Amino acid sequence: MRRSTAWAVIFFASTFAFQGFAGAQAPATHVFGYKDFSQQAKWDHAFMEVPSAKLAGEELKTLTAAPHWASSPEDHATALYVAEKFRAAGLHTEIQPFRVWMNRPVTIEIEAFDATGKRLMSGPTPEHVDPKAYGGDPFQDDPRILPAFNGSSPSGDVTADVVYANFGTLEDFKKLASLGVNIKGKIVLVRYGGNFRGVKVYIAQQYGAAGVLIYSDPGDDGYVKGDMYPRGPYRPETGVQRGSVQFLPLYPGDPETPGVASTPELPDSARITDPAKMNQPSIPSNPISYHDASPILEALDGPVSPRDWQGGLPFTYHLGGTGAVKAHMHLVQDYKLRTIWDVVGTIDGTDADQKEDWVVAGNHRDAWVYGAVDPNSGTAAMLEAVHGLGDLLKQGWKPKRRIVIGSWDAEEEGLMGSTEWAEMHAKELAHAVAYFNTDVGVAGPDFDAAAVPSLKEFVRDVTRQVPSPKGGTVYEQWQATQQASPRRRGRTMSAGAPASGEVTIENLGSGSDYTPFIQHLGVPSTDIGSGGPYGVYHSVFDNYNWFIKFADPTFVYEQQQARVFGLEILHMADADVLPYDYRLYGKDVVGYVADAQKQASDAKLKVDFTAASAAAQRFEAAGQKVYALQAAAIAGANETKLNAALRDAESALLNDAGLPRRSWYKHTIYAPGEYTGYAAVVIPGVSEGIEANDGARAQGQLDALAAALNRSATILEGAAK
Ligand SMILES: [Zn+2]
Repeated sequence: MRRSTAWAVIFFASTFAFQGFAGAQAPATHVFGYKDFSQQAKWDHAFMEVPSAKLAGEELKTLTAAPHWASSPEDHATALYVAEKFRAAGLHTEIQPFRVWMNRPVTIEIEAFDATGKRLMSGPTPEHVDPKAYGGDPFQDDPRILPAFNGSSPSGDVTADVVYANFGTLEDFKKLASLGVNIKGKIVLVRYGGNFRGVKVYIAQQYGAAGVLIYSDPGDDGYVKGDMYPRGPYRPETGVQRGSVQFLPLYPGDPETPGVASTPELPDSARITDPAKMNQPSIPSNPISYHDASPILEALDGPVSPRDWQGGLPFTYHLGGTGAVKAHMHLVQDYKLRTIWDVVGTIDGTDADQKEDWVVAGNHRDAWVYGAVDPNSGTAAMLEAVHGLGDLLKQGWKPKRRIVIGSWDAEEEGLMGSTEWAEMHAKELAHAVAYFNTDVGVAGPDFDAAAVPSLKEFVRDVTRQVPSPKGGTVYEQWQATQQASPRRRGRTMSAGAPASGEVTIENLGSGSDYTPFIQHLGVPSTDIGSGGPYGVYHSVFDNYNWFIKFADPTFVYEQQQARVFGLEILHMADADVLPYDYRLYGKDVVGYVADAQKQASDAKLKVDFTAASAAAQRFEAAGQKVYALQAAAIAGANETKLNAALRDAESALLNDAGLPRRSWYKHTIYAPGEYTGYAAVVIPGVSEGIEANDGARAQGQLDALAAALNRSATILEGAAK
């Protein structure tokens, strides 16, 4: 899974295959967080020499040799492979199993008829491209490929009228209601884009739909964008986007164990089994290709759809709901507790006071099918970063803080491996200093990142030290790409956009494994990856053949990704003073509160912002002060106490009670939106209270926000004494 809709479509032709590091950069002499950077600069240099483009390519090929859906024997084989690589690098390595509630498709049948009973389509059509055109696809005929399905969909046998509901956002369903189109008992046909697919089903279910079909419109990632695979990188006619429809904004992980680790030892009595209390839909849904959606959509009558609901198919889209088209969905899902495997490798810390302050980094390993881009481009880069750390260990390097590297399983089903592991280690993670995520590690040449505000400057710093295959540094190329196309992706931008042309780093929403760390446990997190014209997301065609044709033929962006990911880990594990920047955090939060106040007053909602505004300002002032202290401590003083305060300031932003209706989400500043899923909602309790026009709820959440900001400010002020 990944976080947002379309990544960049700018494609830089790179003829310059960068391999070596030596001599490429003048080494950094001063980096925030270090008293004296000279020793670290030597380690950095030694590290940067190790990640190999060639090895990353070989690792990617091995990892993606077979479909490896979570819990399958092929998935287990990839766990053993990753564990072997971790051990070879000198990491203490274990495979941690969990037992999680997961469906595997047994029968998937979708068909449609017109009013006379004439069959319009019968599917799903298997994903397939012409083997004789443009080299075909060598991976598409493997019998282990599962039919395209939705993780978390129930079984069902439904026949009903079809209504077209655009992206299936809350606004889209409201629009249909205002146009007099009733959803109750209908099968809703929606296109990908605009929100997380689980949210499409969440809203359709609230509106009384009987089932949901989610299709990939060629306007989103198909021929409207460019040539289709295998001629080009975009989704071919039969390509389907699989995916989980778990109600992720309620909670992620094993549906039966919110807040509790589903270890093999957990008794079944500790599981919830009432579907109404779980994070899964009660209505069936399935993804389909535009090949299968097109005859349904073309036969719909009724009103012409609003013009911005028109996608890329060559006919006018209508809303339907008139009885002209009936669809039949017959889904049989085999649900049971299945075993998944996280691989976890550690390097012990050596600083007496800080060795238990973990630096955690991770990437998922399971894939819907082959997963060359999502997620194993990230896994290959992670293995090369681990390779680099292993070489440093052999040269005598000893990190201050413990490093923990996770290869998570069953992320695609709903962040299961990471969530269960984080719940298992909640106590230790209460003083973890960072979680670094990568998922879609390399889909092309355009680096991008999301982070908590306190780590945005840290990510900029790290990317200033890594050379880009395009020339210059990763940072410089990132800046150039953003300037060429300033608003490329769907994630929420920071309110406090940086001055002086610095790159904008987005906020963390959801859709990948950082969610349990930041939004449940308050561990400061980042998410990095390199994007491109990626039209085959979650399909059979996200495979090694696509990757070497369209993403990174010489694996130099794999090498870049390994270096950036590795430097994040190295610097966070070794810094004298934790390199968080709370100045920016404070500025962002002051902006969020002001925006919410304006929204509330526009909605004529009676809520009192006095305490929350004062707390936000106090938090900002404390951030300024502590930054000055960090700079001073770097010059001399004992930093252990300061580091503890810096770390605790983030977890102080958690509210134990959690968000209304979704108490697993405890962070008062960031959560995935209840109605967006991927995109971050800032000060979520307050924002969603205002959106729902619920003054009492908004006021309660404002009070909780003020309390959290005051707690955090007190800690930062204490450090500054
Ligand atoms: Zn993924």
